[in-house]
Amino acid sequence: MSTHPFLGLAPLSATHFASIEDRVARLLRTTQDVVIMQGEALLPLEGAIRAVADPGTTALNVVTGPYGQTFGDWLRDCGATVIDLAVPFHTAVTAGQIREAFAGHPEIDFVSLVHAEAATGNTNPVAEIGEAVREHGALFYLDAVASIGAEPVLPDAWGVDLCVIGAQKAMGGPAGVSAVSVSERAWARMAANPRAPRRSYLSLLDWKERWIDGGRTALPHAPAQLEMLALQACVEHIEAVGLDTVTARHATAAAATRAGALALGGGLAPYVHEASEAAPVATTLRAPSGTVAAELVAHALAVDPALPLAAGGGALAKEMIRVNHYGSDATRGAVRASLAALGTALAEQGLTVDVRGALSAADDAWR
Ligand SMILES: *Cc1c(COP(=O)(O)O)cnc(C)c1O
Repeated sequence: MSTHPFLGLAPLSATHFASIEDRVARLLRTTQDVVIMQGEALLPLEGAIRAVADPGTTALNVVTGPYGQTFGDWLRDCGATVIDLAVPFHTAVTAGQIREAFAGHPEIDFVSLVHAEAATGNTNPVAEIGEAVREHGALFYLDAVASIGAEPVLPDAWGVDLCVIGAQKAMGGPAGVSAVSVSERAWARMAANPRAPRRSYLSLLDWKERWIDGGRTALPHAPAQLEMLALQACVEHIEAVGLDTVTARHATAAAATRAGALALGGGLAPYVHEASEAAPVATTLRAPSGTVAAELVAHALAVDPALPLAAGGGALAKEMIRVNHYGSDATRGAVRASLAALGTALAEQGLTVDVRGALSAADDAWR
């Protein structure tokens, strides 16, 4: 018999499953129902939109990166009228812009927003936006996949009705398990929506009816043990270290990367103009003019393929470098090594860089 730890796993009990949900609720400081979805975060992100959106919905969809574009597609697919509020990827949306959209379209009854964008490196002021959404009375949907663990995520305090998280970014876990907190208002909207998925893997209502309403005693199907145990390990780790310590580590990694990139020179610049709008989860950099971001990243990864570096997706691959300093890479070592490797890549292009200055600027941020 093999003794591999993944083989011969015992089924996860309902009690155990519910206890992991409770820990995630504590992490989110929420008293709302938390539904764990056994799939990558796109599962609850899509499930929640399809549950509440219908042809009677008027949605304000904020686009600050690629995920907002995806949400708009799902909303239109559900027959909703969608008002896209797109802001340039180098900045964040403001509560004022949200208020203007409400003034222009009082019929808006749903708002979708990405909190932090790992793909573009910006973060949005959810507390202020939440106030505006609450005053207007719309249902508030938030993608907090890239913010959970990297900065505060407070669905109850901010009036978020559907808050989606995933384990794979700042929580330091695997992709494949995710969760959504659901307010009473959101449950009511789903129950009233004849088009909400039912008897489906996408269905949140199934979990309510078959799991939550029954007192969480019988699971609707066999849970994915590996992913659930990994999620438990993530939350246990964050509880042991302290959520504030984990978020502070991400904030410092972002500040160090930003300061280091500026000190490195060679024409490298933070992609997000204002530091206050830069996401703690990942720092995006603009490649110097005359260089191609994807090529610089390839050269930097040749120094060390384990570095948390990537080029921007799609058209951004030419101009954007991503330093994904999250999870186990939210460390001084990962930031220093990334800056040094980017310095090597820039020098190879004939650009003048100050690697020692960059490392010392990064070190200052950790002090
Ligand atoms: C990473 C991320 C997700 C999850 O999607 P993947 O493309 O599978 O990584 C969702 N939303 C945001 C904002 C993310 O950063």
